[in-house]
Amino acid sequence: MPGYTHLFTPGPTNIPEVVRQSMNLPMEDMRSPTFPDFTLPLFADIKKIFQTETGRVFIYPSSGTGAWEAAITNTLNPGDKVLMSRFGQFSHLWADMAARLGLDAEVIDVEWGAGVPVEAYASRLAADKGHAIKAVFCCHNETATGVTSDIAAVRVALDDAGHPALLFVDGVSSIGSIDFRMDEWGVDCAVSGSQKGFMLPTGLGFLGVSQKALHASKAATMRRCYFSFDDISRANDSGYFPYTPPTQLLRGLRVSIDLLLAEGLPNVFARHRRLAEGVRKAVDAWGLKLCAKEAKWQSDTVSAIVVPDGIDSAEVVRRAYHRYQISLGVGLAKVAGRVFRIGHMGSLNEVMVCGAIAGAELALIDAGVAIKPGSGVGAAIEHFSLTPHHAALAAAA
Ligand SMILES: *Cc1c(COP(=O)(O)O)cnc(C)c1O
Repeated sequence: MPGYTHLFTPGPTNIPEVVRQSMNLPMEDMRSPTFPDFTLPLFADIKKIFQTETGRVFIYPSSGTGAWEAAITNTLNPGDKVLMSRFGQFSHLWADMAARLGLDAEVIDVEWGAGVPVEAYASRLAADKGHAIKAVFCCHNETATGVTSDIAAVRVALDDAGHPALLFVDGVSSIGSIDFRMDEWGVDCAVSGSQKGFMLPTGLGFLGVSQKALHASKAATMRRCYFSFDDISRANDSGYFPYTPPTQLLRGLRVSIDLLLAEGLPNVFARHRRLAEGVRKAVDAWGLKLCAKEAKWQSDTVSAIVVPDGIDSAEVVRRAYHRYQISLGVGLAKVAGRVFRIGHMGSLNEVMVCGAIAGAELALIDAGVAIKPGSGVGAAIEHFSLTPHHAALAAAA
């Protein structure tokens, strides 16, 4: 096929060329005396992306799902009661994991398109005088529905109830793209992965852990081995790993973190906000709706777009792929056939976003959706040209 193919899935995301080149390296000795000169600053700097000074961040050779498992198995006991909510495929999968690992999970089902039910959490926590609930789980950014939840509000709910439960957050599609404040929000386990906002290949699972979570791990009795905090803490303290780390991915991570820090996190967040807003303007101009039910839930890293009745969203994604060489995200599980997703996460700018919108627009029209050609792209361009550039926005904030 002539020309480039384009990736607009909400993970994996595009890898900046400098990051890709930085991984084209021979294998290196992960037990060399100089390896810690590389790893120790890396361990320090990834904490900045999680916005934690008091916690630490473990880097596991796994995908994000491994970090989910590490969080649970290190800090909890079999049969522990935990509070969760389900409003999309990713919050569903974490709840499923909790049950399969033997937790007593109370899962609050919420309409897909809404987010963490903070008020329901608050009342459960306030009623739990005996502190039976050991952990509260939140999916910060539900990638299946394009919904971002208010984690600070969950922290307030815990504090107002004087409740000591651990706070677990899935930040796989938010950390490094949407403001995520591990220390300020008192997050005890913060999960992420390499192939979303970190702009890397899949293969690293990140887990931010608070001192409270580290302390809990000393007494927790759930079985763990590969993901043991003890093992990785001990090895990481001297700059090494308890097993063979993927050194090329770590070299790439060094460069991706450098890019994020050089741009400045506030600028990174402002860029994602502005690009997402362009997509939302386009969706509006098409006369379509987001899966996110209210403006406060709208995600800055992924937009899940509902197709009109009688249209199969999978067909839109197929046409986009075969005819226009662009990958959009399909609808998952409950919203399969109903929504398609545009990922706007990671290494992205206005022109790329306009390309994604143009490709989606072509595919929608081909699939029979009545859309005025150029309406979405036009609305995005209008937004980008009439609003200050994201770097200027962040500077003024
Ligand atoms: C992608 C994603 C995951 C799963 O991560 P993997 O790296 O595929 O294991 C979990 N949660 C959310 C919110 C995600 O977007």
